[in-house]
Amino acid sequence: MISPPPAPAWNRKHLLGLEDLSREEIVGILDTAESFSEVSRRSRKKVPALQGRVVFNLFFENSTRTRTSFSLSAKRLSADVQDFSASVSSLTKGETFIDTAKNIEAMGADVLVIRHPTPGAPHLLSNHVGASIINAGDGAHEHPTQGLLDLLTIRRAKGTIEGLTVGLIGDIGHSRVARSNIWGLLKLGAKVILCGPPTLVPRGFERLGCEVAHHLDEVLPRCDVVNALRIQIERQQRGLFPSLGEYSHFYGLTQDRLNKARPDLLVLAPGPINRGVELTPEVADGPRSAILDQVTNGLAVRMAVLYLVSGKGDAPST
Ligand code: ASP
Repeated sequence: MISPPPAPAWNRKHLLGLEDLSREEIVGILDTAESFSEVSRRSRKKVPALQGRVVFNLFFENSTRTRTSFSLSAKRLSADVQDFSASVSSLTKGETFIDTAKNIEAMGADVLVIRHPTPGAPHLLSNHVGASIINAGDGAHEHPTQGLLDLLTIRRAKGTIEGLTVGLIGDIGHSRVARSNIWGLLKLGAKVILCGPPTLVPRGFERLGCEVAHHLDEVLPRCDVVNALRIQIERQQRGLFPSLGEYSHFYGLTQDRLNKARPDLLVLAPGPINRGVELTPEVADGPRSAILDQVTNGLAVRMAVLYLVSGKGDAPST
């Protein structure tokens, strides 16, 4: 038996981003994830919650953690799961993205988990298919399940999110992880500091209530949590900083920098991490790093999201 989650404030069919969600909806997902995380600790890691449902992973961009995590989460809920890779599909023969999705839906898909390089692609699809859509990352726009697993990791480590100061470090401009973190953290009452080179930190975020800063050594001692974002080389049209070496000199998390931070600073990174660029191996593998907890919590969050968008706002009958 898993203990029933508190009735979540959730009646949505899709999860497209955290910008649209209320604080109550976000807390509802996190609480549901807490009750599912117990399943992952069992020797038999499976519940029948989505038995008979069909989940398709449609990935039009590379992924290691997110795709595997969604597949495993759906399997833990006893759904049938099918992976779809754009590179080996009929898209290479000219089929449109929407036609591909409609064909997949015609095979009985109940939930489509979609990653796409174009911002808004999951939103577009939600207007053309009847299945539930989960955004697994759309360009530089949002990556809501990453934002949620970051929130869950922080809440578990710190007991709360309200009142914490969280620094998002690095390539804010190209990062969907940053956007989902910003929406989620602000709604849950954290202070958010965006810190990186001026070319990578758009000023518009100040209007949302974030602080924008450019000197990590000034920002770090004020933070309870830092999230070291990956430099999104693949999304940059032109060189926005001189070199990776120079970037890590000013913005890399090193042991030396951590020695000047709060002793209970929590270090997050969405992965894939570039050791020696965003953070040193010492920091990535050190006692303040929650990087692997984030991966574990990702399973619970994705189980919760799959469960909720499938109309299972009631207590799981397991
Ligand atoms: N895996 C995350 C994403 O898909 C972070 C990254 O790639 O830097 O956005």
